Amino acid sequence: MTKQVYKFGGSSLSSAKRYHAVANICQQLAYGDAIVVSAAGKTTDTLVRLWSCYHNQDHKGVGEVIALLKDHQCALVSELLGDKSEVYAHFIDDINAISQRAGCAELEQAWLLAHGELWSARLLAHYLNKQGVAATHFDSRKLFVVAQNNLKHQENTARCQALKSDQLNVVTGFIASDEVGNTVTLGRNGSDYSATLLGKYINASSVTIWTDTQGVYSTDPRKVEKAVKYNKISQQQAQQLARLGNPVLHAKTLTPLKDSDIKLVVRSSYDSHSDGTQVVANEQAKAKRFLTTLASVDVFQLTHNNKDSIRELSIILQHPLQPLEVEGNTLLLVPSQFGEQVASYYLQDAVLIESNVSGVAIVSEAGSESQLLESAKALLEKQSMTLRGAWSQNGFAILLGDQLLESDTLSLLHEELITAKQELAVIVAGIGNVGEVFLSQLNDQLARLNTLLPVKLVGLLRSSTSLLNGQGIELATASANFKNNAKASSPEQIIEFIKELDYGHKVVIDITASESFSKLYPEFALHDCHIISANKYAGTAELNWYENLRRLQTEKNLLWRYNTSVGAGLPINFALKDLQNSGDKITKISGVFSGTLSWLGANYSLDKKFSDLVEQARELGFTEPDPREDLSGRDVQRKLLILARELGLSLELDDIELSAWMPNELAEGSWQDALAKRELLDTFVEELALDAQREGNTLRYVAELDTTTSPITAKVGLKAVAPSAAVATLTPGDNIFVINSVWYADNALIIQGPGAGREVTAAGVHSDLYWLCHKLSE
Ligand code: ASP
Ligand code: MG
Repeated sequence: MTKQVYKFGGSSLSSAKRYHAVANICQQLAYGDAIVVSAAGKTTDTLVRLWSCYHNQDHKGVGEVIALLKDHQCALVSELLGDKSEVYAHFIDDINAISQRAGCAELEQAWLLAHGELWSARLLAHYLNKQGVAATHFDSRKLFVVAQNNLKHQENTARCQALKSDQLNVVTGFIASDEVGNTVTLGRNGSDYSATLLGKYINASSVTIWTDTQGVYSTDPRKVEKAVKYNKISQQQAQQLARLGNPVLHAKTLTPLKDSDIKLVVRSSYDSHSDGTQVVANEQAKAKRFLTTLASVDVFQLTHNNKDSIRELSIILQHPLQPLEVEGNTLLLVPSQFGEQVASYYLQDAVLIESNVSGVAIVSEAGSESQLLESAKALLEKQSMTLRGAWSQNGFAILLGDQLLESDTLSLLHEELITAKQELAVIVAGIGNVGEVFLSQLNDQLARLNTLLPVKLVGLLRSSTSLLNGQGIELATASANFKNNAKASSPEQIIEFIKELDYGHKVVIDITASESFSKLYPEFALHDCHIISANKYAGTAELNWYENLRRLQTEKNLLWRYNTSVGAGLPINFALKDLQNSGDKITKISGVFSGTLSWLGANYSLDKKFSDLVEQARELGFTEPDPREDLSGRDVQRKLLILARELGLSLELDDIELSAWMPNELAEGSWQDALAKRELLDTFVEELALDAQREGNTLRYVAELDTTTSPITAKVGLKAVAPSAAVATLTPGDNIFVINSVWYADNALIIQGPGAGREVTAAGVHSDLYWLCHKLSE
C-alpha cells in the first residue's frame, strides 16, 4: 500500500485550537501514514533564546525563558490532555532536566533545541489516541543518522522500517543524530526537509506540507490581491524559486524528491478542504511566472567561476546561492546577512559590487526572460526606481535597486507580466439547446476574449457523459467531437479532472437545469473554479448551503455570475448590482418573469378556454413539456428569490408566497390526467378573470417584492392589474422587471424584452463570460 507523509509546521500547532484542527485532518489519514511535526508556534525561537541566555551566562534570562516555555506548553497540554496526564508529567521532567543541565553548565545546543519537536510529537500522538486514533510518536534521532554532514540514506531507509503499518506514525521534524547518538539538527526550518527525506525513506507516494498559506502563488498574496495560486508547479521552477530566496519552499526540502515520482503538495491547515499546490516532475506542469521580492542582498563579483566553491559555500551558509553569468563574469547574489561570511570565504577572489540592495526576481518560462526584464525595467523606471542592476538568465530575471518594492509597484508589475498571461480553462455543462448556441457563439467571441486573457475550452458535459481534455478542445469541431467521443463520467471523475487542471483560472459554465449538478458548486469552489450559471437551483438553494457557498467563494476570491438565471439575457442582475454599488437603495421589484406566463397572460380573454390556450402554447413549444411546471409558478418564485438575495435579503424559497395558475387538484398525475379535468382549470381562470373584469382590470401572473412593508412582501401569483399597467401592455412572451428605488421612486426603472430563447440566453451567458474575463484580466 502506498504511504503518505504529512507535515505540520509551527503555526499549525500554535494553540489547542490548531491542534484540534490538525487532529481532524489526521482522522482522515490511513494507518501506516507518517506525520512529521515542527515545534509548536515559536517554540524553537524561544529555545534559541534560552540557549543564548545560557551561553551568555545570563542566569536570570535562563529562568525567565524557561518560565515562558513552561507557560506555553503547560497551557497546551492541560487544554488538550489535562494536567494529570502522562504527557504533562513527562514535560515537567523535561523542563526540570533542562533547568538542571543549564544550572551545572552541561547544556548542549542541539539537544536543547530538539525539545520543541519532541513535545509536539508526543502531544499530538497522545491527543490522537484520546480521539480514538491509534498513533505512536517517534523520535527521529533514531531514524535519521548523519555522518560528516551527510545523511546516511541507506541506513536511514532501513531504520525507517520501524514505522508501524497499523497506526499513524507521528515523527519529530528537524532533528537527527550523529553516529554516536548525539543530537544534531537539520538547520532552521528543517522539518520540511525531514518530511521529504522520510517520504523518500518510506517510498511514499506524496508528501504534504500543511502550512498557513494556501499553496504557491505567483507572488505574495498579502501584497498583491490578484496573486494567482498555482495548482501545479514543476520541481525545476520550485528549485529556482527557492534559490532566489522565496520563503514557501526551501531548496533542501526539494532535494530528496529529485528524480523521484514523489509528489510534494503545499496546503493550508487553516483551510483543509481546498487544494494546495502540487510540485511535480518537470514535464508534468506547464512553466509558470512568479515575482519574488528580494530584500537586502549583496552582490559579489567572483574573479573566476568556481562552481565547487559556490556549492561548498551554500552548504556552509545552509542557504542556496544563485550565481549569475554576466558577460563572462560570475556574480553571486547573497542575503546581506551572509555578506561578511562570503567576503571572508572568498577573500580577494570576490569583490563586493553592491551592498544591501533590494528588488525583485522574475521566474518565467525559458525564452521570455529577457523580454520580461525589459518590460519590468521600463515599468520600474517609470515608478522612479533607480536600478542598480538588471540581469536575465535561463528561466529568470533579476532587478535590483535601493528600495524594497512596495505592494502597489509589485501589483503593477504583476498585472503587466503575469495577470494577462493566465489562461482561463472553460468547462461547459449542458450542451443541449442553449449550450449548442453558446458554443457556436464562443467560436466568434474567442478573439475578443483573448484580448483580455487566453481562454481555452477544456470540457463539455451533458448528463452523465463528458468530453474532457486538459490540453484544450478544438472549438470549431467541438460538437461533432462530443457526439463521437464523449464518455460516461461520474461527478467524481469530473471533479478530479477539474482539480488536476493546470490553469491559472478555471470556470464551470452551468447551462443545465439540473439540481444535482448544482450540488457540485461547493466542490468547484474548493478546486478554485469560478462559476457562471443559467441554472437556478444553486441560487435558490437552502439558505445555509447558499451562504456557505458564498462565503467559500468570497474567501477564495472566486466569482459567480448568474445573469441568465433571471430574464435570460436581460441585464437585470447587473442593473440591481450597479444601482446598489452606486449607493441607491432598491425598495421594490415586480413584474412578469416568465416568458410562458407572459404569453398566456397577454393572449387569454374570456371568450377562450384557458386550457385550449395552454395546449396551443405547448404545441408551439412555449411551455415545458409538462405545462404545469410553468403554471405552478415555482420557476417565477425561484427567480424572485434570486433577485431578493441579490438585494441582500436572507430569504428561503418558502418565504415567498406562491399561488399557482391552476387549481391544486390538477397537480396530481400526468399532464394528460390533468387535461381530463380541464374544466376545473378553465373555471378557475374564468372566475378570476371575471372578477378582474368587473373592476376594469385584467389578469397577469406577477412577482412582487416590497421591502418597505413590515414584514416585507414577497409573493408570486395571478393579479388583477389595470389594462394600462406596464405589466399588462407587455408584448406577449416578453419579461418585464419594474424596479423602484430611492432614485427611481415615482417613475420606476423598467427593463423589458424577451426573457427566454436560445440566442438571447446564450448571449447572456457570454455577457457573464466576458465580464469574468475582464475582471480576471484587471
Ligand atoms: N522548529 C524548527 C524551526 O523553527 C524546524 C521547523 O520549524 O521546520 O526552525
Ligand atoms: Mg517552522
